[in-house]
Amino acid sequence: MYKYNMEELNKKTIDQLNKKGVQVQDIAKIVYELQKDYGEISLEECQDHVQAVLRKRETIHAVLTALAIDQVVDQKLFPEPIQSIIEEDEGLYGIDEVMSLAIVNLYGSIGLTNFGYLDKKKIGIIDQLDKRKGKEVTTFTDDIVAAIAAAAASRLAHKNKEGESK
Ligand code: MG
Repeated sequence: MYKYNMEELNKKTIDQLNKKGVQVQDIAKIVYELQKDYGEISLEECQDHVQAVLRKRETIHAVLTALAIDQVVDQKLFPEPIQSIIEEDEGLYGIDEVMSLAIVNLYGSIGLTNFGYLDKKKIGIIDQLDKRKGKEVTTFTDDIVAAIAAAAASRLAHKNKEGESK
């Protein structure tokens, strides 16, 4: 039975990210890097947008699913051949990215542009997660973190545009 309210789900989601070594602040830093050239913004502002993305049900469901998959694959509990495919983060496996789109698409098409950029550039915590591969399964985690950052950057961009036209 579904026994958690949204506030509890949001808290659980942040707890799970923290357990995986990802802080809200780390994601905010990526948002700052993505948006700093488009206007005056602060890290606090970026953090508020990350928090807002993390309060959405779509985000919560995608993050909890992604982190659970990495965790269970780390425990080698998935059946073969999918265990090895996820564990080795096989090049042509793209379900991690597909799942991330549930978050990326929340704030329009800028999200996809930002996500594509982060997939190539791997800045900050995304790079650290990538480097932990081999010791730990981060196949789904890296994409989900990039998705949260991409969505938060899009949210920030939209809000600032709305502000301009007022
Ligand atoms: Mg991945």
